Amino acid sequence: MASFRFVCELPTGLHARPASVLAETARRFHSAAVVTNEATGASAEARSVLSVIGLDVQRGHSVLVEASGDDADKFIEEVRGLVADKFGETEGGEAGEAAGAGFVARVPVPLRRAGVVTILGSSVCTGVGEGMVVWGGGAEFPKEYTGAAGGTVEEERARLAGAIDAVREEIEGALKKEKPGAGKDILSAHRGIIIDPALAGCMAKLIGSGMSAPGAVVAGAGQIASKLEHSASAYIRERAADVREVCRRLLGVLDPTWGGGVEKPIVLEGPSVVVAKELGVGQLTSMDRRNLKGLVLGDVGRTSHLVILARSMQIPTLIGVEMSATSLPGGARAIVDAIGGFVVASPGAAVMEYYRREDRARGRRGAKMAPLMARRGATRDGHALEVAANAAMAAEIAGAMEQGADSVGLLRTEMLFLDRATPPTEEEQYLLYRAAVEATGSTALESRATREVIIRTLDIGGDKPAPYITIPKEENPFLGCRGVRLYKRELDLLRSQLRAICRASAHGTVKVMAPMVATVGEAKWFCERIARAQAELCEEGVAHDPNMAVGIMLEVPSAALVIDQLAHVVDFISIGTNDLCQYTFAADRTNAGVAELNNPREPGFLRLLDKIVSEAAAHGVWVGICGEMAGDVRHLPLMVGLGVAGLDEISMGAPSIGPVKAKLAGVSAAECRAVLEKAMACETAEQVDAILDAFGSQAGSEMQGPLHSELILIDSDASTREDVIQELAGLLHAAGRTDDPRAVEEAAWVREEKGATGFGFGFCIPHAQTDAVACSSIAVARLRAPIEWPSMDGLPVGLAIMLTVRASDADQTHLKLLAKLARRLMHEGFRDALNGALSAAAMLDVLEAELELKRAG
Ligand code: PEP
Ligand code: MG
Repeated sequence: MASFRFVCELPTGLHARPASVLAETARRFHSAAVVTNEATGASAEARSVLSVIGLDVQRGHSVLVEASGDDADKFIEEVRGLVADKFGETEGGEAGEAAGAGFVARVPVPLRRAGVVTILGSSVCTGVGEGMVVWGGGAEFPKEYTGAAGGTVEEERARLAGAIDAVREEIEGALKKEKPGAGKDILSAHRGIIIDPALAGCMAKLIGSGMSAPGAVVAGAGQIASKLEHSASAYIRERAADVREVCRRLLGVLDPTWGGGVEKPIVLEGPSVVVAKELGVGQLTSMDRRNLKGLVLGDVGRTSHLVILARSMQIPTLIGVEMSATSLPGGARAIVDAIGGFVVASPGAAVMEYYRREDRARGRRGAKMAPLMARRGATRDGHALEVAANAAMAAEIAGAMEQGADSVGLLRTEMLFLDRATPPTEEEQYLLYRAAVEATGSTALESRATREVIIRTLDIGGDKPAPYITIPKEENPFLGCRGVRLYKRELDLLRSQLRAICRASAHGTVKVMAPMVATVGEAKWFCERIARAQAELCEEGVAHDPNMAVGIMLEVPSAALVIDQLAHVVDFISIGTNDLCQYTFAADRTNAGVAELNNPREPGFLRLLDKIVSEAAAHGVWVGICGEMAGDVRHLPLMVGLGVAGLDEISMGAPSIGPVKAKLAGVSAAECRAVLEKAMACETAEQVDAILDAFGSQAGSEMQGPLHSELILIDSDASTREDVIQELAGLLHAAGRTDDPRAVEEAAWVREEKGATGFGFGFCIPHAQTDAVACSSIAVARLRAPIEWPSMDGLPVGLAIMLTVRASDADQTHLKLLAKLARRLMHEGFRDALNGALSAAAMLDVLEAELELKRAG
């Protein structure tokens, strides 16, 4: 017997991922292994993920792992390594659990003021959807089985085994058909549950105590799910729903009369909002996506598979909603507001009008952004800089393309290799890489069918272990055997990945690159392995692109010193600033204690980037940046400055693409180069920050004066004060001056509720101070019909002029502007000119001249 005791240090305990790493490791050994949570005394077989999760090991608990058998010592040695590596968890491993957990519902002011009844929830996928309420959810999983008694223990166990096989085959069949993405991941998790020995073991035991097979499924599911539900971790609690879903299928096979085994498909006959306390993943995937406008769910976890899937389908979704057939009657109309986090049943005309107006502004914003997103990234003076997407799954790519990505600058492939007992096959990889290339075809860009995808080969080892790769314990994994260094030990793994990538290159423009290249020798070796894979495919007559570009990630400083030599070996370079920064400053990127040093805005680092880019360009080598630094919109002038030196592409997470592309379109290459030069001459990162801050506010005001014809509406149909303020906030949204019009509205109402802003003479001047706007702006709405608005002279208001300034603007812009506007409005000539202007352009001329303000260029 060999054993090992450790104290769990994982912040969220031994949750699903580390438990599955442990179980997969145990499955590779013959020895029987048992894990005991010494804090509770509970033990579990190490091979069973469910049982290990069920131990509910929390941070600080003492855990004993014991193994007996011929390879027990080896197994314990590996467990020791896993513990030392924290089971491959990075800081905040369950980010999904924490992210957004504190969602606070926010009902727009007009709805609050009108006393609209809302049912609150927590938004897990933003957006607004409207449709007919359709109640979903199948028969509830029974708490007790009341069907017929079974046969002998042997007969019932055989029935159970047959049913488990049938469900496993069913899931595996579906898995084969499913395209890579969230749906496939969920099916894989369900497969993991049905093959888990704890599930079968627990049910077989119950049969032994006299239960029928279906009775044991019901009782067993209850036992396992309740163990999970008692966990302190929300992530683990949510796995209980997966167990019930799999057991529902088992019960359906064993007792077809039950009727809940096959989830009833939910038929949506028109635009619908589906309401359900619990919903099967299968039910969601089988719904008509075009008619599914929103999801209102009960106690469903935010990291549950159902939610992951809803998010990947981009359906406005609320969870944690306490609803009933009375509050949300089937057949009634409902609006799911997953921006604010609530649902409105049977909305009245005013509510519908609110969303109609908001939708109109959103549509204008989309239309304004569309040409920009469809164009390749470039500065306002025409300097091209490609804005690409980073992705870790093929499923993310279509969304990134919709956000305006020019291409995929980094497809990380580690996800495919982690969290599993055996490596993915060549075929599995090929299908995934091919799906990634094909997903770029669903692009907003007009010019080509598919866009380029840079696939990075496996960056595993060191901090990211996989159970089937044995790396001896390293004192310093970041300086150890990771990335390209591992390949020489894992030639088969590399070969199958390279073959899969080469095969995918037959379906679009694929480029391949190796991570962590430190020397010219490594780069040459990598190119040679690709040439071999291509030669094999040629011989086999398998389609591939023989001219596929081969590159390296530049993330080890030694590579930066030999760019002239690398230029003869590779076709391109992609700078991984995350690692390059940590190795340049010798400051671990995961160590919060040295985070201050790990700063890409340090002048020394900027000089290094400039040197790499300039040398690469001088040698005719394409160069991009795909580290986190590239996606921070504040860094854009630095990136464009590097663009002048020859940087071809910046690649980032999808949410950054829109803001970065929009900002890129507003800056000039020359001014950005000047910013970079200044930053490189600084001595500290703080000085660089000051330069960037100054550029940020100056660029905002230079690019966008407070006036623009887009901010003027001369025939608004607004008929209440609420409408008017919403309309004005919508103008700012449509013009791209705010991404959060509701916050602008809220800020305007803060002022309005202190005292109405009716000015007299039929004018009102609402005003708002909020950092939700990018720069100070004046929005104008002339109303078709004047409305009530409290003022000194009591005259109805026909023209509203809203001032919105950034709350952080220290220079009193707000008051100065307001005073000037008020002074001018005292003049009849100015008022008449505004009331009489025939077009937005004419009104803009009047405002510009009278207020002596600049209009946006
Ligand atoms: C990088 O190091 O900048 C990079 C993009 O790679 P990763 O973050 O995956 O190490
Ligand atoms: Mg890296």
